Amino acid sequence: MSGTITHCRACGAPFGPVFCDLGVMAVANSYLPPEADPTAEPRFPLRAMVCSDCRMVQLDHVVDAHGIFRDYAYFSSASSSWLKHCLNFCATMTNRLNLGPQSLVIEVASNDGYLLKNFVASGVPCLGIEPAENVAAVARAAGVPTEAVFLTPDSAAAIVQRLGRRADLVVANNVLAHVPDINGFTQGLAALLAPEGVLSVEAPHLLAQVDGVQFDTIYHEHYAYWSLLAVEHLFTRHGLTVFDVETLPTHGGSLRILASPTPRPASAALRALRQLEAARGLASDAFYQGFGARVSGVLSGFRDWLAVQKRRGRRVAAYGAAAKGNTFLNAAGVTAADLLAVADLSPAKQGRLLPGSHVPVVSPEALLALAPDEILILPWNIAPEVVAQLRAAGFSGGLWTAVPEMRRW
Ligand SMILES: [Zn+2]
Repeated sequence: MSGTITHCRACGAPFGPVFCDLGVMAVANSYLPPEADPTAEPRFPLRAMVCSDCRMVQLDHVVDAHGIFRDYAYFSSASSSWLKHCLNFCATMTNRLNLGPQSLVIEVASNDGYLLKNFVASGVPCLGIEPAENVAAVARAAGVPTEAVFLTPDSAAAIVQRLGRRADLVVANNVLAHVPDINGFTQGLAALLAPEGVLSVEAPHLLAQVDGVQFDTIYHEHYAYWSLLAVEHLFTRHGLTVFDVETLPTHGGSLRILASPTPRPASAALRALRQLEAARGLASDAFYQGFGARVSGVLSGFRDWLAVQKRRGRRVAAYGAAAKGNTFLNAAGVTAADLLAVADLSPAKQGRLLPGSHVPVVSPEALLALAPDEILILPWNIAPEVVAQLRAAGFSGGLWTAVPEMRRW
């Protein structure tokens, strides 16, 4: 199933202004085997719209979720800074909610168990819900109980019935963006929660996305882009009251939003962020308009830089075959003739071609063996970590990021 929609997937109101139109693109996580016919690669419109009512920013062309997620070649455990972030989260929540052997933690989109393994280690009962069968199997092998299902009201009810209880903590990190049926999913989250339970959701913050011109976080798997305003509209409709929020540096600026079926007083941080979003005009059309022109500016800055490198005969490569890099390269019109290769730590991607641009993916060692002069780091959010790795491996050439502007590290 895929198709174009004209009304908000959350509240049903008609779309207002265009937020960002990136044209027609290959699906960002569909890495091609080298023998694939590049002309047969499916491409879909990639355009984000703003809801005229609840202000949820969302794609107006929905690509089939099953086709994307069932063979998803992404394993969270690849980034060490993200693992540390998760460890800290588990310690904080264990303390704050007094979690112990009597508690239950459920994580939705639990991936390979990277977060829940911390609860397993400290003796807090937990369950992962992970739609990708191959990824769920990796989690189970690591000792993290995991069910391979999509979260829906029905699958949530079945889990609650089987366990004979609801959860004290439900975690949904970086998953709200990935859900086409956002109402069914949120209803499922609410159904998993005990009356006094806490839902913790992390999502990249639209305000940070706009301020950092982070257009490359837009791709077909990301159906929606969240402000506190839009999350509160959504949760309120499903009986969940937001009571606290924290801003985090992850993914270029994220929110950790805490909500509960039982209303609690709004924290000072929550009141302050509501005021900030109101002052920046997130309820108005003007805030969203003009983003597209700033995206064009970033892309032309990169194209100019690439043209200079080519003119000088510099050998340019890239690092990090993640989804945001694919959006960036395809929006910039980069082809395999422009880059030597792109390095990635994930063996599942090595030996394949990037979708759209068809740049070959190699291991970091193989990339350095090609002796590039300049390396463009595509996942700018983990640039310091990548810079340290490449310098430790002996690379002495230029290291760059391109968002929100060309920067030499
Ligand atoms: Zn809406």
